[in-house]
Amino acid sequence: SKFTVINIEEIILEVVSFMGPQALLKSINLHVTSQTNGECQVIGDSQLLKQVFVNAIKNGMEAMPDGGNININISYKIGKFVSISVCDEGQGIDDEHINKIFQPFFTTKSTGTGLGLSHVYKVIEEHGGNIEVSSVVEQGTTFEFVLPLNNSL
Ligand code: ADP
Ligand code: MG
Repeated sequence: SKFTVINIEEIILEVVSFMGPQALLKSINLHVTSQTNGECQVIGDSQLLKQVFVNAIKNGMEAMPDGGNININISYKIGKFVSISVCDEGQGIDDEHINKIFQPFFTTKSTGTGLGLSHVYKVIEEHGGNIEVSSVVEQGTTFEFVLPLNNSL
């Protein structure tokens, strides 16, 4: 893979503009907020990281068949990390499913592959990051991705 210095905030904005038309068709609003000063350098593979956020936004959209909001927030975490949270207002994830969602082929969708989140997990792991999920059934789900910032900052 091709690891270079990238700006994760720019990656998020690119993914959101790429997903914009699809979201609009489904009456979904994609909101991006940031608490950073724009200095969001990460060592990573921009293509793989784009796939992570495309997958997360797609899952959020699929959880809201009647539309709604997906809020994406970027902030710093202590110890030189950047956090990207993707928060939807969808149907949420049942307690008995939440520990299986990163397993390959786990899906609750009639036409799902169950491969999105296993790929996401692998990519974030390869970048030295981690993922936290919190979900409330019938209220929504938040995926938080934490990635190490480039040391040279
Ligand atoms: P797929 O989307 O093909 O089902 P994924 O690996 O992307 O596969 O997701 C696995 C499962 O995790 C989904 O089928 C769904 O049950 C659950 N899931 C993932 N993201 C969300 C979300 N934002 N809201 C509700 N359920 C989710
Ligand atoms: Mg998916």
